Amino acid sequence: METGDCVGGGGKRLNPDTACGQFQAIFGQFFENENVFLFSKGRACLYAILRACGMKSADEVLIPGYTCVVVPSAVINAGAIPRYVDIDPRTFNLSLDSIQKAVNSHTKMLLVQHTYGIPCELDAIREWAREKRIAVVEDCCHAVGSRYGEGLCGTWGCASFFSGQWNKPFTTGLGGMLLVRDEPLAKAVAQVIEREIVRPGWTFDMTIRLQTQIYEILSSPRMVPLLTVIYRFLSNYGVMVGSSDACELKGQIPKRYFMEMSRAQARKGIVEMKALQENLDHRTRIAAYYQDQLSSAGIPVYEPADKEHPVFVRYPVRVEKKAELLEMAFRQGIEIGSWFESPLHPIQTGLEQFGYVRGSCPEAEKASQQAINLPTHRKITMTEAERIIQFLRKSAQFIDR
Ligand SMILES: *Cc1c(COP(=O)(O)O)cnc(C)c1O
Repeated sequence: METGDCVGGGGKRLNPDTACGQFQAIFGQFFENENVFLFSKGRACLYAILRACGMKSADEVLIPGYTCVVVPSAVINAGAIPRYVDIDPRTFNLSLDSIQKAVNSHTKMLLVQHTYGIPCELDAIREWAREKRIAVVEDCCHAVGSRYGEGLCGTWGCASFFSGQWNKPFTTGLGGMLLVRDEPLAKAVAQVIEREIVRPGWTFDMTIRLQTQIYEILSSPRMVPLLTVIYRFLSNYGVMVGSSDACELKGQIPKRYFMEMSRAQARKGIVEMKALQENLDHRTRIAAYYQDQLSSAGIPVYEPADKEHPVFVRYPVRVEKKAELLEMAFRQGIEIGSWFESPLHPIQTGLEQFGYVRGSCPEAEKASQQAINLPTHRKITMTEAERIIQFLRKSAQFIDR
């Protein structure tokens, strides 16, 4: 039995009577874009767009040296070469300046990632890329609702993609949403899908359904640190659908890599889209509280530049002794996260398999040693946010000033 019905040819609307068709429609409405393609994970969106752009073996894609390992692995799986760009320490994003240092005659695509929800300097980057005839794709996995000037992140590049993984702005119990802005590219994506897509089986669909329910029940902030450990353990042993297969972290292509979204994922997506504004408002309120409290405690925080209007998926803070601080938070049941733990999160060794040379992105390496992040999701009540701030104030000796 097959449970997928999400393949949309050329941005063609899916059957509106199906969960995938409905999710496609509301997701597209939010971004005012009809070319929406739905996959089982965010990385499949990136793979689709790379294949649709016809990457050849010497073609290079510029990506931040501060990302998830599944990003360079999608580039490699699609037959191209990832080239790493260092980040701006203020925004954790690549900047026009760092991009210009990394570009060469093989560069075919530029992947701009709005890290933590902080928008990249999209106008300058897009203008520059247009002149150089380099395609800009936005990695919006952290950035639903963030704006640069008036424009929503996800509406600037020739394509943009989103993830519905557990820790992202909203979850579809893993999932990926791809927006394509131009018609010929949308047609090319549809052709790639026609040739290569895998349909989700009922076990995948069932597992997702179960996991979303368990997640809903157990994801109170005090449980999260412990659950993360258990989840990683179980998915390593194949009991749960993990974010990544063990083989994937070693640079291999897992089975069922390029899979369409399942019904259970789409159903979750519909529910989440209906509550989206509330979700974004909540995140904005909690992040404003963190910003206010931390800066009045003299702790340095991100200062938005003109035009940067982030909605934070997690709120970043730099600390001195990150490992000790995370350990203390874990013991006290405080939900503090750590993205990214290395330039190619979460792997700590073997980065060279993905073409990353140690020392090549010094700011990214420094950020991965220093940055912790604070949750902004709906289970974080004001009381919980206060508890997190109190914890950080007490741990002031660990914080970089
Ligand atoms: C999570 C994430 C991805 C990949 O999303 P999946 O749905 O897990 O494939 C890509 N880029 C960034 C920046 C992410 O945080």
